[in-house]
Amino acid sequence: MKVLLTGGIGYIGSHTLVELLDSGYNVIVIDNFYNSKPDVIDKVKEITNKDFKFYEGNICDKKILEKIFNENNIEAVIHFAGYKAVGESVKEPLKYYRNNLDSTLTLLEVMKKHNCKKLVFSSSATVYGKPESLPIKENFHLSTTNPYGTTKLIIEGILQDLYKSDPTWAIAILRYFNPIGAHSSGLIGENPNDVPNNLMPYILKVASGEYPCLSIFGDDYETHDGTGVRDYIHVVDLAKGHVKAIEFIENNIGIDAYNLGTGIGYSVLDLVKTFEQVTGVPVNYKIVERRPGDIDACYADASYALEKLNWHVEKTLEDMCRDSYNYLKHN
Ligand code: NAD
Ligand code: UDP
Repeated sequence: MKVLLTGGIGYIGSHTLVELLDSGYNVIVIDNFYNSKPDVIDKVKEITNKDFKFYEGNICDKKILEKIFNENNIEAVIHFAGYKAVGESVKEPLKYYRNNLDSTLTLLEVMKKHNCKKLVFSSSATVYGKPESLPIKENFHLSTTNPYGTTKLIIEGILQDLYKSDPTWAIAILRYFNPIGAHSSGLIGENPNDVPNNLMPYILKVASGEYPCLSIFGDDYETHDGTGVRDYIHVVDLAKGHVKAIEFIENNIGIDAYNLGTGIGYSVLDLVKTFEQVTGVPVNYKIVERRPGDIDACYADASYALEKLNWHVEKTLEDMCRDSYNYLKHN
């Protein structure tokens, strides 16, 4: 099966690329390196000892997508490409609406034209807004609190409408919780270009001595130790979820959304302490004000992905910390 990955050189895309190549898929990748680096291409080839075709370009550009679909018999697409920084999306909403929506519409138009109707889409737990209860199930009310999240919700709606217009599509919407960790080789991982917004990349900057101290945003949340609780998932487990989703849409038409999380909530302090235990490296921190817009706790009910996709996680919080730190040491 020939699968196109948009944004396949990025953090989640590159780990999925490894899993797909290891599972024997023929993979084609497009990325414009907006938030990734070309050396990931060789690193994936080194890890897998397999080759894949790469196109550099922006998927808002219909011409390059036409070229890819004309040159390759693409049977399914995993659509990772998009901007993902929540804070930046609040400051520059038009940039986010333009890239995330334009790229998706262009991709869907070209797929339709070439009769390629199998799609896996990268959505996010952010579409649950402030959940009414925990754990979060796929049928919970959807709402968003920032433009980034709204792009994901709009795209989910576009996909639903597309499916209604033509029920021969097979679409898996994957709602990721909080991916962290890296490939065990230490060759690929998350490497944000700017000051990181997310917790684990920030912890790594403190562990490496680049930043003096982690600011923990609030210790007065309704959680077991007062710090925010999230569902951290190892990026390799997440990547394997994409292989399962591709296997599923290969044989089943329809549209459905799946939570990809562990089902376990860990606090900021749980993560900091586990990181220190596993690596032996201290992480200085101080408690500061809450970050505007943050919720107390968020974790998945991932039973639907197990039931339908036969997917479940294998890695622990310790594995996530160890592999994140191993990637830091290699880079
Ligand atoms: P990432 O930024 O590492 O990867 C995205 C890739 O897409 C980058 O390599 C970037 O260069 C590329 N890209 C962006 N716009 C493009 C365009 N117009 N044309 C071609 N390439 C383009 O992000 P990631 O963490 O790997 O996330 C992948 C997807 O998953 C994104 O859609 C993101 O919104 C979603 N997601 C991520 C998280 C997370 O915490 N990492 C959580 C939920 C959802
Ligand atoms: N967090 C923190 N300090 C940081 C970054 C994040 O205390 O420098 C907290 C944040 O308040 C939240 C958790 O860590 O409770 C996860 O934040 P992240 O931005 O990684 O994920 P999201 O909030 O988008 O789920």
